[in-house]
Amino acid sequence: MALHAKPIDRLIEALTKLPGIGRKTASRLAFHILRASPSEVQELARAISDVKEKIHLCSICFNLTDEDPCWICQDEHRSKEILCVVEGPNDLIAVENTGEYKGRYHVLHGTISPLEGVGPEDIKIKELMERLRKESVSEVIMATNPTVEGGATALYLTDLIRPLGVKVTRIAYGIPMGSEIEYADGMTISRALEGRREI
Ligand SMILES: [Zn+2]
Repeated sequence: MALHAKPIDRLIEALTKLPGIGRKTASRLAFHILRASPSEVQELARAISDVKEKIHLCSICFNLTDEDPCWICQDEHRSKEILCVVEGPNDLIAVENTGEYKGRYHVLHGTISPLEGVGPEDIKIKELMERLRKESVSEVIMATNPTVEGGATALYLTDLIRPLGVKVTRIAYGIPMGSEIEYADGMTISRALEGRREI
């Protein structure tokens, strides 16, 4: 016997698929949506479908964007000589929020992780190397996370990039080992950027 009417069950089922949402939270959210005004619910539904329809990857840096190239790649005031390599779009936002960095980015969309079956060809490494050959970059800052995978990816990239005569630096870690840039505060990231060292 179904406890709820079918559409409610369907919504709870869909919400359960979201990360960090268990059955209890899903059902709380579903009943919240049920009580909300029609316009609120329409806005939520539209926001969800818009994000899927309108957001894609920047063809240059692979940041998430609704225009191509993204606003950072379009900004002529930013240095084309420095490229900050990050694992994901949220890391880019964290570095950007410091307000200190005036170069450009390259978003890898992951790290090399043999245990999880992620190889160099699965993340945006080929695209990074193409950029470095085309653009006049003099320094690449490795801002991957201080995890085993983040470190291994930075080393792998350094071996590829150095022969091109481009300086490679790694951000200093006030950010504790094993933690993630995305969750570090702006001051810590600023210091980590300032204290970067050549590798
Ligand atoms: Zn871009």
